[in-house]
Amino acid sequence: MLQSDFVGLTGHVKFNPDKSLIGPAYDIINIIGTGVRQTVSKPRGWVFPNNGKQLRIGVPIRVSYREFVSQVPGTNTSKGFCIDVFTAAVSLLPYAVPYQFIPYGNGHENPSYTELVNLITTGYFDAVVGDIAIVTNRTKVLDFTLPYAASGLVVVVPFKKLSTGAWAFLRPFSAPLWGWFGFWEHRTNDEFRGPPKKQLITILWFSLSTLFFAHKETTVSTLGRLVLILWLFVVLIINSSYTASLTSILTVQKLYSPINGIESLKKGDEPIGYQVGSFAEHYLTEEIGISKSRLRALGSPEEYAMALQRDPEKGGVVAVVDELPYIELFLSSQCKFRIAGQPFTKSGWGFAFPRDSPLAVDLSTAILSLSENGDLQRIHDKWLTKSACSSDNTEIESDRLELKSFWGLYLLFAIACFAALLIYFVQIVRKYRKTVSGESISDVQGSSHSRRLRTLLSLMDEKHDQSRGDSKRRKLDRSLSAYDEENDLRRDSNRRQSHISLERGTNVSN
Ligand code: GLU
Repeated sequence: MLQSDFVGLTGHVKFNPDKSLIGPAYDIINIIGTGVRQTVSKPRGWVFPNNGKQLRIGVPIRVSYREFVSQVPGTNTSKGFCIDVFTAAVSLLPYAVPYQFIPYGNGHENPSYTELVNLITTGYFDAVVGDIAIVTNRTKVLDFTLPYAASGLVVVVPFKKLSTGAWAFLRPFSAPLWGWFGFWEHRTNDEFRGPPKKQLITILWFSLSTLFFAHKETTVSTLGRLVLILWLFVVLIINSSYTASLTSILTVQKLYSPINGIESLKKGDEPIGYQVGSFAEHYLTEEIGISKSRLRALGSPEEYAMALQRDPEKGGVVAVVDELPYIELFLSSQCKFRIAGQPFTKSGWGFAFPRDSPLAVDLSTAILSLSENGDLQRIHDKWLTKSACSSDNTEIESDRLELKSFWGLYLLFAIACFAALLIYFVQIVRKYRKTVSGESISDVQGSSHSRRLRTLLSLMDEKHDQSRGDSKRRKLDRSLSAYDEENDLRRDSNRRQSHISLERGTNVSN
């Protein structure tokens, strides 16, 4: 053939050493545009070649989250975010693609997406359009376009508001810290000496009363004052920390859930929800290693909410694992749930085609330009505009402080009041009995009632003699501890000794 040299119907036929025709009679030129451009690649034709038939494109019949894909009732056509993206991308192709949508699913629950895309490999569908996650298992047998939406699996959990509670006033400091306040002061002050019981009371009284700047103990020595001023500074800091901490506990919403991501979900044995038909089921069992018996299929956002709020023993779940786009929609209407942790897989949604399909490549380019020119975002906003949850009134309501927020404090106060009153009455009755028994011999029957009442009243009215009270208390103390007198003696001797040394000091300095 290379030797050919003749004139035929199309002109002179002769080949050069490159095996190209010399001076061909036909040239393919592009007449759209401003200049001449030679086309060297094989033209595709004006229509996507499919033996003259329409492409059969499978579309899932979704029953939940119908914003993504849904059937137009009574027709074979579909609408939704994914469909709009597809039609916009197809319209960007340089050739026409005749296609028809073929709905797939029973209409009662979302179809299995893995089964749906597998119908491409059997040749039943020429492509599948919908909210199809690009996952390894599927890419092994199919070709996907580039993702037109970002996706990834997330964990959704119900959260409890950490209640401020009756004992919130104790929470700013931990238990050990409260304990420390009692003992810091032990060694610093003369007034803090005495029998152990008295010491303990003074220590607690002083360190707690200084919190309110209401201490009455006098400090005499310079060293004592130095320590006290430092202590008062500590008190200032503690005071402000307490106020700050209590403020945040009482006013800032603390959200709480024991599950903080896929790891803690993996460890437990509570039931987990997933969306019917989703690849999440396979992923959770095969990749994460969660046993199948823990998984519960949920069909709709309403079912998510119900299962998350129900007790796990009564058919509820502790968390739902699903793709981010669904969960974003779900959370826009449900304010009692939150995403725990980060998305633990990163993927996207694409359209599925048979292996080596030229359409997948061209649609990828089209999707890229849709995303670059902002159309993708416009389609997204048209279908999936979300409202934020924070404006929910019930939550603002629960932020207010109520009387019950402080009942713990009132209870402590009431107990202290009652105990003090009780002890007081016991003391008075004892005193009264003593007085009455002393007078009983000379008692005259007739006037006894009014007399007793007068005695009682005078006992109650009597000014409490501090020294007598003290000596009595000391007597009581002595029965409890034998240290008291010993201590008094020691203190006396100490004082005497210090006097002597002081005098000696003066002598020396003199
Ligand atoms: N997007 C999911 C998937 O590709 C399907 C979601 C569903 O089950 O409805 O597997």
